[in-house]
Amino acid sequence: MKKKLGLLYGGKSAEHHVSLQTALAVINALEHDKFDIHPIYIAENGEWIKGPLLNGKVESVTSLQFSHGEALPPTALAPTLFQAEQSEGSFDVIFPLLHGPNGEDGTVQGLLELLNLPYVGNGVLASSAGMDKVIMKNIFAQAGLPQVNYVWFIRSEWEHNREKAYGVVEEELGYPCFVKPANLGSSVGISKCSNREELEGAFKEAFQFDRKIIIEQGIEAREIELGVLGNDKPQCSVAGEIIPKVEFYDYKAKYEDGNTALIIPAEIAEDEYAMLQELALRAFKALDCSGLVRADFFLTKDGQAYINEVNTMPGFTPFSMFPLLWKHTGVDYPQLIERLVELGLERHEEKQ
Ligand code: ATP
Ligand code: MG
Ligand code: MG
Ligand code: MG
Repeated sequence: MKKKLGLLYGGKSAEHHVSLQTALAVINALEHDKFDIHPIYIAENGEWIKGPLLNGKVESVTSLQFSHGEALPPTALAPTLFQAEQSEGSFDVIFPLLHGPNGEDGTVQGLLELLNLPYVGNGVLASSAGMDKVIMKNIFAQAGLPQVNYVWFIRSEWEHNREKAYGVVEEELGYPCFVKPANLGSSVGISKCSNREELEGAFKEAFQFDRKIIIEQGIEAREIELGVLGNDKPQCSVAGEIIPKVEFYDYKAKYEDGNTALIIPAEIAEDEYAMLQELALRAFKALDCSGLVRADFFLTKDGQAYINEVNTMPGFTPFSMFPLLWKHTGVDYPQLIERLVELGLERHEEKQ
């Protein structure tokens, strides 16, 4: 029997376009004899649209061709979409292929929980805690995971006394530092700062995307990432290294200029890999993850590892780090998607 799979993509997020690219790749890879795919598009304004299958080749994020069917009421009424579907036979599973706020952050996961629908990937808590870099780092600190130093502010604190906020950054962290919106991804709104002037610009930029920002000590290190897959007994993929040819791994380097080298497996010592594996699994457990995460690390010359973050729904085209890591570990793209569906169903059954 084919599984009826609802594929949620797009999303009311600054990472909307990344999701478009990912969704098309997943649809193309899903075995159509095993899955009956129903794409559901969430527009940038939050409208939900039930549409025909995406088609066309993705040459770049902007060249993506897709057509949509019937527009549905805004997000608040989204459940009606699922109810309508249920009258035609319920979905077996939903794949929320959404990145960033309103999708990767537990909100959609909460909706699916209330509707009692099985879904792929992390649950409500892991998704929301993983999306907020401050909360994530606080939990990681409590789990004893090594991290760079950080401070954070909400917009009103900064507006009340900007000089004080900049002073805290300079006193506690110094330069270079990284300023980031607390809740986002794909490097959107992130700046590296080397002086006060850049710091002021970076605060303004990051506050455009969130009411809360985090500032981290800049570290000079290799960037190594690991995939984790599983529920109660998660496993790690081989490690991969990112070598951006620019100042840091920014949005352009990720999706536009194709200049970044991904080296898989990363050339690291066996004991370094063992250490990163242990840290990735500890991070997975600390956030109570399920399904998958991509754990991002910094590895310094003297072999010290720091966790940067986990992504609870990492980039997912066949050329993205997470699927490539699994490919090199022996799980190809269609198998990976199937495994994720199985893990989602397994978690749902355990809860019943
Ligand atoms: P994604 O979710 O796409 O992985 P993100 O938006 O959550 O990205 P980060 O991974 O936190 O952003 O940071 C983006 C990039 O910025 C990193 O891959 C790295 O190149 C650089 N970077 C971030 N923080 C630091 C830091 N503290 N020191 C040095 N480089 C950093
Ligand atoms: Mg991230
Ligand atoms: Mg991300
Ligand atoms: Mg990252």
